[in-house]
Amino acid sequence: MRSPSWIILKSATAFPVSWRSFLFTLLSSSLKSVIRKLYKSLGNGILHGTTFQKKLVAGALIYSLTIHVDAGVVLLYHHVDEGTPAITSIAPSQFNLHLDIIEAEGFTVLPLDELIKRSMDASSEPETGDEKIVAITFDDAYRSIYSNAFPNLQARGWPFTIFVATRLIEEGNPNYLTWANLKKMSMHGATIANHTDSHIHMIRRLEAETGDRWENRIRAELITAKGLLVEHGLDSNLFAYPYGEYDAETLNLVRDLGMVGFGQQSGAIGPYSNPLLLPRYPLAGVYVGEAAFRDKLRSLPLPVRHPEVEPMVSDNFKPPLKLSFATDKLDLARMTCYGPGGLMTLSETKPLSVLATPVAEVSVGRTRYNCTLPKGNRFYWFSQLWIRKESDGSWYHEP
Ligand SMILES: [Zn+2]
Repeated sequence: MRSPSWIILKSATAFPVSWRSFLFTLLSSSLKSVIRKLYKSLGNGILHGTTFQKKLVAGALIYSLTIHVDAGVVLLYHHVDEGTPAITSIAPSQFNLHLDIIEAEGFTVLPLDELIKRSMDASSEPETGDEKIVAITFDDAYRSIYSNAFPNLQARGWPFTIFVATRLIEEGNPNYLTWANLKKMSMHGATIANHTDSHIHMIRRLEAETGDRWENRIRAELITAKGLLVEHGLDSNLFAYPYGEYDAETLNLVRDLGMVGFGQQSGAIGPYSNPLLLPRYPLAGVYVGEAAFRDKLRSLPLPVRHPEVEPMVSDNFKPPLKLSFATDKLDLARMTCYGPGGLMTLSETKPLSVLATPVAEVSVGRTRYNCTLPKGNRFYWFSQLWIRKESDGSWYHEP
């Protein structure tokens, strides 16, 4: 079985996040209009059954639309430079090759907010299922975006998004873009979005910090960043968690502020994605190769229900991940997951769920499990982040 070989998932505890209702408020109630139309057409005599039968048929139609796959792929870059740390860099020539591949594969590059709407909208028509849509994002607003990425993106007329930690721009740090750079790019298709003010580890509590104080501090980070963006005429409700780190509280906070949140876990966006925790493919270092890039670009969203799992591990360092699916149409025998130590053990396979367990412990720092399932020349894809502190309970050093 073909499976991406470079792929790398605690007992699943669903967050108390009512994200589906949140999504409806975000996405202009198009699903509701489809439901209304279905009921109307059924009520107009297309189906001469009882109300109960009509509800059953309408439910089945809605369900079939809901499980229908629309895939929104989001790419994540940092530096587009050869002299910067490999772990967050891609060479300009390789970046341009990625853009060429996007074009050759027939993908449409969309503004990020439009890609979210298109890929999460459960009411999409079935014909649009193989729609190829992608969005390009950059985190941290490094200077090389302007010099090495923007010219090529502008020449193609492609939109992109830069998630900015505003303090670094305010301080005039020479490694980062200026407000003038950001404004100019915003006039040529760029969305400038929120990445906190000072690029903090959001989930880390200060010593003896109470929950309320932590929440106020983190809220201030997001609000300050938003204020500075607005001050420069650059507003957006899109947010990216620094380092891709999150926990239940950070997701709730982002929801309370009415924002859409992006992590750094791999996968495509679909109707079952959590708008507070949308996936992106980090493309840097050894993960930029052409074959791997094509697999990511073509990837489909594995329809996992409640994809928000608490990532922090504190006792069981081989956390099992239970994936519950929105459909029993997946050929789970073909699913492979990679985690610490390689290929993971899949057990308790049922039509609607599977349990993935790693063969080795997750290491200190950030680790991901990656699960894929082939479909034609594409892969359904899902990734889960894990976070482990040092054995003395301290936080790991950020390289
Ligand atoms: Zn960042």
